[in-house]
Amino acid sequence: MTDQELLRYSRHILLNEIGVEGQQRLRQASMLVIGAGGLGSPAAFYLASAGVARITLVDGDRVDLTNLQRQILHTTERIGTPKATSGQAALAAINADVQVVPVTQRADQDALADLVSTATVVLDCSDNFATRHALNRACVTHRKPLVSGAAIRFDGQVAVFDLRHDASPCYACLFPPGDGEDELCAVMGVFAPLTGIIGTTQAAEALKLAAGIGESLEGRLLMLDALSMRWHSVRVKRDPACPVCGGR
Ligand SMILES: [Zn+2]
Repeated sequence: MTDQELLRYSRHILLNEIGVEGQQRLRQASMLVIGAGGLGSPAAFYLASAGVARITLVDGDRVDLTNLQRQILHTTERIGTPKATSGQAALAAINADVQVVPVTQRADQDALADLVSTATVVLDCSDNFATRHALNRACVTHRKPLVSGAAIRFDGQVAVFDLRHDASPCYACLFPPGDGEDELCAVMGVFAPLTGIIGTTQAAEALKLAAGIGESLEGRLLMLDALSMRWHSVRVKRDPACPVCGGR
């Protein structure tokens, strides 16, 4: 690491659990962030400030006035521009050492398979079940750790599916495909800082996984009721009959 990098990341390097070695692992990590909205914004900001090697930011939408209440990557003057490139501009201003690859189309199953295969950690910051399930399938196939987040109204949840491990459940073990609530999240109200709390929690889990430190959320679904500010978690087990990972 250069002197500038040692300074920039000094507050990480000072942590015994991270140190120079852990920071170097972060500097080599490739993060795939699906969705540059309410969850993807804070997640990508912390991944960039923490100095990962690459962030691939995937979003097919353009910045809209209704996004700015919570999607903090974007600005009033970038309304109308693709969210992925707006996000790239925001992240470059924080840390130009991080390579940001904007993907300005909604990724289909084939595109996701390509993107997932080269990622160190995958963050699901999307707002629809079709993308969530397609991304989960790609992560099961390529055995990649998936950090899943969701936020709606005042309710948030985070889970880690570390599909490098045989015993790990996948997203579909918990939420079977075809439950029929698609596009729900895209059109409902959401408390602005809730997306910050959940997206930041996703960044924390992704950075821990990439640095190889601590204990991840694997096997637990963490839920937040922001209206009463109460957290709770439930254990999540692999479903042997899961249509996605059952035959693994
Ligand atoms: Zn499964």
